[in-house]
Amino acid sequence: MRLFSIFGNPVSHSRSPLMHNSVFYHLGYDGAYIRTHLEDGSKLKEVFFAQKLSGANVTVPHKEVAFTLCDEVRGFAKEIGVVNTLINENGKLIGYNTDADGFLYAIQEFQNIQNILILGAGGTAKALAIKFLQEKKKVTILNRSAKRLQYFQQFPMQCFTWEKYQNQSYDLVINTTSAGLSDEALPAPKEMIENILQNTKYVADVIYGKLTPFLQLAKEKNITFKDGADMLLGQGVLANELFVQHTLKREDIQREMEKSFQL
Ligand code: NDP
Repeated sequence: MRLFSIFGNPVSHSRSPLMHNSVFYHLGYDGAYIRTHLEDGSKLKEVFFAQKLSGANVTVPHKEVAFTLCDEVRGFAKEIGVVNTLINENGKLIGYNTDADGFLYAIQEFQNIQNILILGAGGTAKALAIKFLQEKKKVTILNRSAKRLQYFQQFPMQCFTWEKYQNQSYDLVINTTSAGLSDEALPAPKEMIENILQNTKYVADVIYGKLTPFLQLAKEKNITFKDGADMLLGQGVLANELFVQHTLKREDIQREMEKSFQL
């Protein structure tokens, strides 16, 4: 049996075990997927091999440290320095990123998105911002503190802290902060969020499984919004393809994962 896990802190909320186990069980793949609460990200590689894992996902707040611990990083993850999927390839730790493509999959139904505001400047923000730049979109970043903005300043996008923010109009505003994940916080001061929401067509949150205070405000203002469930599905399907070394069909993986959302 091949064993997989998700590493994070917090991790108890994660639906990844349900999703991947649903695929393994229903498609007859000899695998199991567990969750691992990890406080110290620097121990990730050690714990991964101690648990004899064949692969893993990495979630908040360890995606950037995961990048530094890989023996090799492939594809888009290499461009952004953020890893959310790990594969054990003959004792070597190989890193990938499936978040950005998962998010693009999730927002397919939003039409004519050109001008995007990303709230937050962590690993998820990096993945989305760089992917959007590659897709020739206009990207603005708004973050609580200045330090993490440094990375984004090397690219052609506007970067603001709360203090310096100047409101504009957007097609899509995305919350990529963990505000609202295990608390009832908004991703920026309320007045600022209200101004932002007055000037956007669509809203998305990458948090799933609950209506965050941010989405609650969007709902009150009748703005079309979506939570992070479809992104979760999108990134999960792509990660699962890597886990099973492409021995299962993408549409079968997607179907079984979608079923697990109804549980
Ligand atoms: P990181 O730890 O890399 O970044 C966190 C970001 O959130 C930072 O910019 C931080 O700002 C900001 N932040 C944290 N708390 C607050 C707060 N109270 N108010 C305002 N800003 C805050 O996190 P990740 O990018 O890895 O993950 C972010 C979120 O995305 C998590 O909730 C995670 O569960 C979710 N996620 C969902 C996915 C899905 O499939 N649906 C996929 C990937 C992630 P500062 O720099 O000031 O500290």
